[in-house]
Amino acid sequence: MHFILWLNGHQTRRQNTPVENSKNIYIETYGCQMNFSDSEIVASILKENGYTYTEDVLSAGIILVNTCSIRENAEERVRKRLHYFKSLRKRNPGLLIGLLGCMADRTKTALMEEEQLLDLVAGPDSYRHLPQLLEQVGTGRRAIDTILSVDETYADITPVRLDSNGVSAFISIMRGCENYCSYCVVPSTRGRERSRDAASIVRETRDLFEKGYREVTLLGQNVNSYSWKTGDRIITFADLLGQVAGVNPLMRIRFATSHPKDISDDLLRTIAASHNLCKAIHLPVQSGSNHMLGLMNRKYTREDYQERIETIRKIIPGCSVSTDIIAGFCDETEEDHLDTLSLMNQVGYDAAFMFKYSERPQTLAADTLTDNIPEEIKDRRLREIIDLQQQLSLASNQKEVGKTFEILVEGKSKRSENQYFGRNSQNKVAVFTKTQSGPGEYVMVKITGATSATLLGEVV
Ligand code: SF4
Repeated sequence: MHFILWLNGHQTRRQNTPVENSKNIYIETYGCQMNFSDSEIVASILKENGYTYTEDVLSAGIILVNTCSIRENAEERVRKRLHYFKSLRKRNPGLLIGLLGCMADRTKTALMEEEQLLDLVAGPDSYRHLPQLLEQVGTGRRAIDTILSVDETYADITPVRLDSNGVSAFISIMRGCENYCSYCVVPSTRGRERSRDAASIVRETRDLFEKGYREVTLLGQNVNSYSWKTGDRIITFADLLGQVAGVNPLMRIRFATSHPKDISDDLLRTIAASHNLCKAIHLPVQSGSNHMLGLMNRKYTREDYQERIETIRKIIPGCSVSTDIIAGFCDETEEDHLDTLSLMNQVGYDAAFMFKYSERPQTLAADTLTDNIPEEIKDRRLREIIDLQQQLSLASNQKEVGKTFEILVEGKSKRSENQYFGRNSQNKVAVFTKTQSGPGEYVMVKITGATSATLLGEVV
């Protein structure tokens, strides 16, 4: 069941004068890949309804900000941008401003009522209603729809690819999460876990291949629990990967994100069996301490995690492993922090996303734990984690010197007009001298040097 709530109380807050560019939509996106994928769905829904996407904020009649609640500073950045967008009304009095995504429900009262920054608020499951919401707002009323759905997956919508390099694209395969990691706001902002029809995912992959794309990343908060029932059969994530890989051997498939408790041997064997299923697994550990993992409600131990890493390396030799780490979670002792550093050394991560903990409202941690690690200690621990990861990334890349990899060319290198960059199956970026083969094509590159972020090589 889905409701639209119209805010009629102060409906003539300001008259939205029709302007020439009133159907031009500018979308600004914050946060994870899932949010960027959602913005492409929003652009598609609005295009179907006669709106035009613009990359120039000054030519927009409607500005939509797709927001992220994961960290406090992401919310602050959005708030600042909304004040700037509001200032654009001086030159365009009819400008409409809308808030989408994870911040929508929790911040709607403050941003719409108290700060008067918004005309429209739509949560992650309300994007089909945007045309009606915009129509209503265009008449001078404000509108809110933040009800979460139990079945919305936008399966039938073909996203408009925004900021695309024409080579790689994201495909959302599920929405929501029910893992309730204690620090995480996603279960409250994105609702219950639901999987998308497998046939629609395969169709979207085929469509992208025909348009020249050569890499897709299947997205979900916890892709390993993907499950789609068709007739008597349950399609698991391993089954889905097999089907998507079968679209064309030249289409590379990646996925994010995996939960360590759910990554099965069956899935690993599926990855090992197909050349085009990329040999790179992102497996967020968050902490190397069992004390912290318990408080984080991660539902695995350090030992369970290490066992999964050993199995990955046994079943998929040469697979790269990346992770997410949080520094300074509630009650974290120096010993807990050292456990994280020792686990990083043991695993030898190829790459990591590292953050210091910031408490988010509407999470288990905010309700039941105390954010009691002083900022300077969080900063120091994060610094140590980042420093170690840089050493590990450098060592990982230096091991590749002398090897030859199949690289999918993505585009021109930022450093030089005469160089291309691309990625190998392990998701490592390689820079090499330009050849006849351009973006979307595969080249064999021999690695001749490495930094902690990049492989340097020559086409062979
Ligand atoms: S698995 Fe945990 S961290 Fe990931 S989205 Fe779900 S609750 Fe958040």
